[in-house]
Amino acid sequence: MGVAFERDGARRARQVAAVALDRARQRATNTRPRMRALQAAPGGRLRWQEVPTPPPPGPDGAVVRPLASATCDLDCAIALGASQFPLPLHLGHECVAEVLAVGERVSSVASGDRVVVPFQINCGRCPACLAGRTGNCTGVPPVSMYGMGLVGGLWGGAFAEQLAVPYADAMLVALPDGVDPVLAASVADNICDAYRHVAPHVPRLLSENPDGAVLILAATRRRFFFSPSLPLYTGLIARAYGAHDVHVADARPGVREHAGRLGLDALHPRELRKLDRAPLVIDVSGGDLHLALARTAPDGVCTSSGSLHRSARIPALRMYGRNVTLHFGRTHARALIPAVLELLAAGRLDPRPVITNVAPLEDAPRALGEHFRGGGVKTVLTAP
Ligand SMILES: [Zn+2]
Ligand SMILES: [Zn+2]
Repeated sequence: MGVAFERDGARRARQVAAVALDRARQRATNTRPRMRALQAAPGGRLRWQEVPTPPPPGPDGAVVRPLASATCDLDCAIALGASQFPLPLHLGHECVAEVLAVGERVSSVASGDRVVVPFQINCGRCPACLAGRTGNCTGVPPVSMYGMGLVGGLWGGAFAEQLAVPYADAMLVALPDGVDPVLAASVADNICDAYRHVAPHVPRLLSENPDGAVLILAATRRRFFFSPSLPLYTGLIARAYGAHDVHVADARPGVREHAGRLGLDALHPRELRKLDRAPLVIDVSGGDLHLALARTAPDGVCTSSGSLHRSARIPALRMYGRNVTLHFGRTHARALIPAVLELLAAGRLDPRPVITNVAPLEDAPRALGEHFRGGGVKTVLTAP
């Protein structure tokens, strides 16, 4: 929450107030058609809420209709109230959508196109966007994202009948012909997140040692609030890049079984001492950075998806002695989406075996409830 307000805090507050005012006006005057948006409320409740459809797009914007919306691994923690994201909020931030309308200045997409909608909002014009650091766009308040309520700004959620896209040319990426929207829904976030841990590192690793190991550290305890699609996608992409010694450490037996079915070496984090330290360690443990760094080989790289904790312990002296490089932070999704879609279109990455449930969007409260409580890996909701 602190990061969300550390720059442009007044602008974020104005945006939140404007959305609230707009909703109140809509309720009073009933001028815009209504649609359903899935709300996650305290107590793990998931329910449809009737809200106004987005207004007609501004000159640079678009309105889209999600065709396939996927759970992000973080959604489980949000929906079950195990994160700092204040509830209630409109859930969902990974989707492939059909464009319904575009503003007059939009040139790259048109009504009827199928597009990937990145989970982060970005303008395409600021220095950060132009440098490919789209997750830190300075044209919008920090950490502007769909489906995260107050923290991300009230842009709406992807488990809904429509979604407003403020910068269509900057954000939307056409879905290549022949790529199934269900398989590409998670490209909006989790698959890009997996990709950024692999693509910059594995080619260099394998050029130095063709047998170089990749260690993916996921849950270190069985009770864990993040779904496990990210470690599995990361393993599949590492294999697609030619790594054959890929280990997934997870305390959840079901995740180890799933990783094994994907051809990855699965082990319990307790067993990590049996492995040599790895030259590339990918930390998706959500908070056990210390262990990930301890298992990184001399001159190795540890790349972490971060954590929701305020602080983390690091083995500073060992890192210094071993000369370990740590990258800790968020993905710049929009900049990576074209390369990830190329992997899918070329058949180098098949996300299908990661998906555990596909259900109609109208069944969202039930399907997502089962996903969050039953340890689902990836649920995709489809609109007709
Ligand atoms: Zn996410
Ligand atoms: Zn920008």
